[in-house]
Amino acid sequence: MKYCSTRGNSELVSGAYAIKKGIAPDGGLYMPTEIPTLTAEDITALCEMDYAHRAADILYRFLDDYNKDELLEDCIAAYSEANFPGGAAPLHKLDEGGYVLELFHGPTCAFKDMALQIMPRLLSRALKMTGEDKTALILVATSGDTGKAALEGYRDVPGIAIKVFYPVHGVSKVQKLQMATQEGANVSVCAIEGNFDDAQNGVKKIFSDAEINKQLNDGGYILTSANSINWGRLAPQVVYYISAYCDLLKAGDIKAGQAINFTVPTGNFGNIFAAYIAKQMGLPINKLICASNRNNILTDFLQTGVYDRRRKFYQTMSPSMDILISSNLERLLYLICGAEKTAEYMNRLNTIGKYKIELDELNKIKATFMGMHANEAHTLDEIGFVYEHAQYLSDTHTGVALYCASKFRYYSDDVMVTVSTASPYKFAKDVLTAVGGECDGDEFAPLYKLNEITGVEIPAPLASLKEKTVRFTDVIDPDKMAEETLKILA
Ligand SMILES: *Cc1c(COP(=O)(O)O)cnc(C)c1O
Repeated sequence: MKYCSTRGNSELVSGAYAIKKGIAPDGGLYMPTEIPTLTAEDITALCEMDYAHRAADILYRFLDDYNKDELLEDCIAAYSEANFPGGAAPLHKLDEGGYVLELFHGPTCAFKDMALQIMPRLLSRALKMTGEDKTALILVATSGDTGKAALEGYRDVPGIAIKVFYPVHGVSKVQKLQMATQEGANVSVCAIEGNFDDAQNGVKKIFSDAEINKQLNDGGYILTSANSINWGRLAPQVVYYISAYCDLLKAGDIKAGQAINFTVPTGNFGNIFAAYIAKQMGLPINKLICASNRNNILTDFLQTGVYDRRRKFYQTMSPSMDILISSNLERLLYLICGAEKTAEYMNRLNTIGKYKIELDELNKIKATFMGMHANEAHTLDEIGFVYEHAQYLSDTHTGVALYCASKFRYYSDDVMVTVSTASPYKFAKDVLTAVGGECDGDEFAPLYKLNEITGVEIPAPLASLKEKTVRFTDVIDPDKMAEETLKILA
């Protein structure tokens, strides 16, 4: 299996190389040149496996340059009971035909762990497989959850260093504390005065700056990314869609071949794109509901075919979805429109801030995707409603998705799986408000209060945060990010 750039102007590379590089030299994202297929028999066989074995089986279809036994070894370690107490991706039944796929049982309580517990292992192997002798420096721009999950996944991994940039006012207090207290000798965290797009653009600029790359190379480092643009992030996310289908099938809740829908709380379009890949492989999926918050640029795009980032950016209670440039949408454009058109659209996005796809392209996308959004009031109401009527506590990102899913289900009887991307305790203050509680005190007070009201257990990684020491306090201007990065050479 070879990988090509979504913009078509880079050489074909192996899976290991694509994971090592993160982004293609022409600025595009790596995509497999073909999508492996999943037959009905494959799905039946996967039903009999646990999560780690399902993951290894599916990953090997994309990464056939890796050793199959080593992949399995890595998956068993990544998706262990210690890392994901109670299972990696359990399904919770809400009501007849309605389920929640819980992806937040990892070490940082958000779905990014699903990819970032396995990705460092894939990168470590990739460095060996490509004969790399330099230290891999991972640069991450984060809207909150990626940063912590990456820090946790990469800490003290030999041959790797990691630096995380996050928008100082764009993450929750708990998220900030999670990053500021990160342990590990190879980690560093820096806040920037700006929003997530500023952080992401800053990182992209560093990646494409030949001079900085040369200085780092001379100092013994190569740059790579852990952002969701890296194929090593995308591939592991395909697994849980297939796994959820297997669980439904095994439980007798659906019949073999029966198509189901997923609603995905979306920011950078990585999670939902993984679902699309699963569908392309042959998993029976009918619709994918792309759920956005007030930053509803994707809702508009999926309706009109116009992507226009020249709009107001809102800070919401679902900060991991506060994004105006959804990088992984480029991968969908590539599959629908081809590399040449993708390069043209991305060029327009960069220069004038807007592009418009053709009507036939839009219709192809609409055959699977539907864009919906929830404002802040909808989100709070939905969390409260679901708690009251289904005794289920969800976080704010999941609240956005549950709202969109419930609206969609007015006119569809298909089984709907709503993807839950964070523990309610990660955004406890807003969740507390949603269930009618209030409290005073520090950032931990809402966690205790929420626990008191609902009886839902506080996840151990969050409960233990209070005892940790703050290590990182720097806040810099976005245009100082390159300088900050080069400090590693000092
Ligand atoms: C990252 C994140 C999202 C958005 O996922 P994308 O793959 O960027 O679309 C949604 N919810 C939470 C809690 C996240 O951390």
